[in-house]
Amino acid sequence: MKYAIVKNEKIEATKGAKGACPSCGSDLIAKCGELKVNHWSHKGNRNCDPWWENETEWHRSWKSNFPKEWQEIVHFDESGEKHIADVKTKNGWVLEFQHSFLNPEERQSRNLFYKQLVWVVDGTRRKTDKKQFQKMLEESVHLKTNIPIIRTHFPDEYRLLKEWHNDSLVFFDFGEAENAEKSKSILWFLFPKTTSSNACLSPFPREKFIEIFKSDSFGEIYKNNISPIHTEIKNGERRQQAANAQIRPDSLSGFDRYMRNKLRRRRRL
Ligand SMILES: [Zn+2]
Repeated sequence: MKYAIVKNEKIEATKGAKGACPSCGSDLIAKCGELKVNHWSHKGNRNCDPWWENETEWHRSWKSNFPKEWQEIVHFDESGEKHIADVKTKNGWVLEFQHSFLNPEERQSRNLFYKQLVWVVDGTRRKTDKKQFQKMLEESVHLKTNIPIIRTHFPDEYRLLKEWHNDSLVFFDFGEAENAEKSKSILWFLFPKTTSSNACLSPFPREKFIEIFKSDSFGEIYKNNISPIHTEIKNGERRQQAANAQIRPDSLSGFDRYMRNKLRRRRRL
């Protein structure tokens, strides 16, 4: 963890320092070595929160964009279960910075636990993800919308999308901030899954993301922008499905049917 409690204050780890865990209250030891970022650790290295992930520089640089009093917040649900949120805003939005793989059950239990949860996923952990993602962007369709939105027809062919295309609110971070100018760096927002198998994504400036959460206005953005666009995407798909249903398969010529199936088979490879 980045912070321990020392005399009622959140303190970062320094050599030899001692503090208490904000969640369970037990003693924490400061770990300040060369290999890992400075952090606090429970004795015996066992964390009281099974959801806690060892932190990388990537976690730390993300968290440090937000006020100290919003970082590493113990969040309780109605049953009294508690976990430490990476960032929790005043309005109750939780940001989780996810570096390692999460299985679908774990991801879902966090969505249910935090309710207002937004994921920022490290897209640089596996080398192939960024390449796959770029390929996906090249093969996708640009929708005719006011804001740039792309649609991909086979999200399951791309590992990151396969893992995250569900009802989560996800922003992918491909670490552009390190190379490009920070102001131009973008994240990719993945719209939650609809009834179709398509996935829709939208580029989102990293700076704007930080600004929105710092000003705690994501709730409004969600209500006024993301949610209506998502509804429009769903309605569009429904209209398309209805239109497709009008074309009965037997109205296609034998050749068209053959081509359609061939195309399908090829795209699944
Ligand atoms: Zn603890």
